[in-house]
Amino acid sequence: MKSIKQRLLFLGPPGAGKGTQAERLCASHGLMHLSTGDLLRAEVAANSPLGQEAAAVMNRGELVSDDLVLAIVEKQLTTQSGGWLLDGFPRTVIQAEALEPILEQLKQPIQAVVLLELNDAALIQRLLSRGRTDDNESVIRHRLEVYRKKTAPLIDHYRQQGLLETVEAHGSIEAITSSIEAVLC
Ligand code: AMP
Repeated sequence: MKSIKQRLLFLGPPGAGKGTQAERLCASHGLMHLSTGDLLRAEVAANSPLGQEAAAVMNRGELVSDDLVLAIVEKQLTTQSGGWLLDGFPRTVIQAEALEPILEQLKQPIQAVVLLELNDAALIQRLLSRGRTDDNESVIRHRLEVYRKKTAPLIDHYRQQGLLETVEAHGSIEAITSSIEAVLC
């Protein structure tokens, strides 16, 4: 199998398939899958103080605080040595700016940012079929709004850095994985 870039970031609206594609890519290319949503859900399931703080915010479709996710991500990044894929982080310009000095210190710059694109109708349909507690229609619409307002500005941020690769997230799971691999060679 062809080797791909080793330090990646997935960007895109909720429902675009970031989690599914990140898992597949990480499994075939030996990267660490770092999903802040998954890490937060694990804290909620464990009913830890951090999880208790995050649960209500997540169920409303809001973003948990930048400080909280940054602490989680920094710990994960500084305790690994191989490649990684950040999925669902950064979600705000503040998070992106805070990530930069951490990666600089680790001498592990981001090699590519993959933007998964999909239209709203398809996003909502996918999210409704997923059945997560934060996946009812009004929360979904709110999450899409939060994405547009707070996360979408990162598209230009990374485009300006020359890191952005856009992939249309239509079609079969396998076909989308191949399109992602093609932009990461
Ligand atoms: P996800 O699994 O990426 O859709 O994330 C689920 C929820 O976790 C989001 O709606 C947020 O409430 C929270 N979350 C995940 N990642 C972040 C992040 N980087 N910053 C703030 N909140 C986050």
